[in-house]
Parts: sequence; C-alpha cells; structure tokens
Amino acid sequence: MIKIPPIDLKRQYQQIKEETAAKVLEILNSGRYIGGEIVANFEQQFAEYIGVSQCVSCNSGTDALYLAMRALNIGEGDEVITTPFTFIATTEVIVRVGAKPVFVDIQSETFNLNVDAIESAITNKTKAIIPVHLFGQPVNMTQLMAIASKHNLFVIEDCAQATGAQWNHQRLGSIGDVGCFSFFPTKNLGAFGDGGALTTNNTSIAQSARMLKEHGSSVRYQHDRTGINSRLDTIQAGILQIKLPLLDDWNQQRREIAANYQELLAPIKQIETPLFSPENNSVWNQYTIKIRYKGKYLEESLSSYRDRIRQKLQENGISTMVYYPLPLHLQPVYQKFGYKKGKFPISERISSQVLSLPMFISLSLEEQQQIVYGLKDSLDSI
Ligand SMILES: *Cc1c(COP(=O)(O)O)cnc(C)c1O
Repeated sequence: MIKIPPIDLKRQYQQIKEETAAKVLEILNSGRYIGGEIVANFEQQFAEYIGVSQCVSCNSGTDALYLAMRALNIGEGDEVITTPFTFIATTEVIVRVGAKPVFVDIQSETFNLNVDAIESAITNKTKAIIPVHLFGQPVNMTQLMAIASKHNLFVIEDCAQATGAQWNHQRLGSIGDVGCFSFFPTKNLGAFGDGGALTTNNTSIAQSARMLKEHGSSVRYQHDRTGINSRLDTIQAGILQIKLPLLDDWNQQRREIAANYQELLAPIKQIETPLFSPENNSVWNQYTIKIRYKGKYLEESLSSYRDRIRQKLQENGISTMVYYPLPLHLQPVYQKFGYKKGKFPISERISSQVLSLPMFISLSLEEQQQIVYGLKDSLDSI
C-alpha cells in the first residue's frame, strides 16, 4: 500500500535542492547569520511582490500579528472583530495586548467571516478588524474595507494561509492597513523553519513595527517602548529568496490540484466540495471538504462519524487533517469572555464537518485518484 501524507514538503524541496544547498553554504561561510543584506533584500523583494512600500520581517506569523497590534496601539479596553474559525494565533495576539476578541460567525461556503455580520458587532470600543483569508480563500475585501472606513477601523489582514492570493487583482496583504504573513514550512511560501513578515504602505506603522521587534529600540541601546526580539534568520531569508520567484507557479499548481479534486469528487454525494470559481481565486493552502449530515446526526455524533471516516482512510494509507475541530469561542482559554455554545452556529457545525485532504506541491493525479477512491470506500462502508 502506498502511503499518502497530508503534506510532503520533501517533494518541493527536491525542486530547489541545489540552489538552497549553495545558498545555505554561502551564508554559513559568510559568518553573518543575523540580519544583513540578504534579509534587507528579501524584505524589499517581498514588498514588491505584495505590492506595498514596506515589509518588516520577523520570527513568525504570530509575531507579525502581534507587532501589527502593538504598532497600531491596540490594547487594554479595545475590541477587535474577527472569526472564531481560524488558528488560535489570530486571537492570541488580541488577548496578549489586553484587548478583547469579538467574534462574528462565518459563511459556510467560504469558511471566512461573514462580512455582512461585522457592522452589528461594532461598538464604541472597536478598534480593528482582522479578516483571515482561511485556507487560501480571500475575504471580500471590497465590502470589508468599505465597512472599516465608514467606522474608522484598522484592518489587519491575516494572510498566513494566503501568500500570493489576490482580491480584485490586488495581492492580499496590500489592501488593509497591515498584512501579516507566516513562512511556517507548510504555508504557501514556507521557509525551512519559522519566519514571518508584516506588509504595509504606511511608513510610520512599519517604523513602529521595526522598532518593536528590535526590543523597542530605534537608536541602539535606547529603548522607548517595551518590545520583543523577533527576527527572520539570514538563512531563512536566503531560502525564501529562492522560493519567492516560484510562488506563483506553485500556487497555480495548487489550483490545478484543487480543480482535479473538484472533478474527481463531484459524483460523491455524501460530501460537499469547497467553493471553486475563477473569481474567488483561492491559493489552496488547504483543500477542505465538508461531510454532509447523514440522517439525523447531531454535531457531536457527526464529528465522531467524521473521525471514523478519517480512521478508515488512515487504514488505507491516506492521512487527512481537521482544521479546526473546535471554534475559538468555545476554547477553554476563552471561557472568560463568556461565549456560549450555540452563539456561532455555522462555525460550530462546520467544525464537525470539515476534512482537509492531502494538498501539496507535486501531489500526483494518481495519488488524488487513490485518495478519492479511498474516501468513497470509507463513506460507503461507514
Ligand atoms: C499559521 C498561521 C498563523 C501563525 O503563523 P506562525 O508563523 O505559525 O506563527 C496565524 N494565522 C493563521 C490563520 C495561520 O494559519
């Protein structure tokens, strides 16, 4: 039996093996392992690619979000509107600066926050909105920016899963006040370790972020604010310089893989395939299907039905993932905010339905056929 992992990063690496080895050796030989020209050049190249004037690199996507919050002076007593169906990092940074995450439910077709629901969540404490372009699928930024400007709110785009995606021919991360990116290895532009960046057209936001990531200092050994230490390592910047020019091709390959899945999965009635249209232009960090209710399944029993399907797939050598099994408003850590079960029904229901199929560069059509065959077999046998 041939095993198919949810993500195989070795295959992408094979395509750039020689260049990366040479680059890493060059950096090791240079004796300069932090900062330097390589990091500065990567920041410039990434800013140009995204279509903004400023890029501040840092240690992770989480740090990029944290630096954005601090640079915009969001803190104690403020509220930030976002989605409960995302990775914890999105809200972690809100809580870390002392602000409150205010959730709005998602749209089941896009998995993204329902922009129509934002206005009713705005109070006089609201400072910002964090749209998350989940799984690579852009949020409707035209509508979101109109609401933000009407209510004078900052927009921080969480682009961690959507590097290279566009909304209306504009790259995500260039539309809001700040864009936050992760170079975690499994993201569309992944380093060989941690990494992140913040993008903006606002020079003073970029300056603040840069100062905060350097221990709150812009003049050496003079510290004006409490900052952090957050750097993109020189080796990672060198590797990202090799990968950035390939990103559009890789994203195109992800679209082709997604298109194959759509076609192969179309006859399977027990699942729903994700939204796929030329306009929505996802970059498919994940390919996530929804398992349909089978009879009168309650949410709990639906998730155990899903778990049995996953188990069966695993027995056939196919690994899948669940992003995310528990929406953030129901996380133990956020009980203090008082959100109850039932508050965001779409997020809650979707959490028990989602299943992410293997999606990575160089996944072959034969493997996709095997995955779909295995899925059909699992669904029919349970
Ligand atoms: C990965 C991710 C992050 C955090 O990125 P790290 O580089 O892992 O810190 C933030 N938000 C979302 C939606 C993510 O998927």
